[in-house]
Amino acid sequence: MDAGSGVGHLRRIASDAEYNRIQRAYRAYIDHGRGCPVCAVDSSVCTTAGDLWNVYREAHEE
Ligand SMILES: [Zn+2]
Repeated sequence: MDAGSGVGHLRRIASDAEYNRIQRAYRAYIDHGRGCPVCAVDSSVCTTAGDLWNVYREAHEE
């Protein structure tokens, strides 16, 4: 029926991989915050949380 469905399918696989990457980056940030004594007080002063958040943001922007 739709001649472009093949291309659409490939695009969906690509966006799923992208979505998984974003989810992993977000999960790493959340998991860090749960076990980090610095984040428990103030996550804005934790450099590790800052790095993980940047990874998440970059994954989101790509
Ligand atoms: Zn932290």
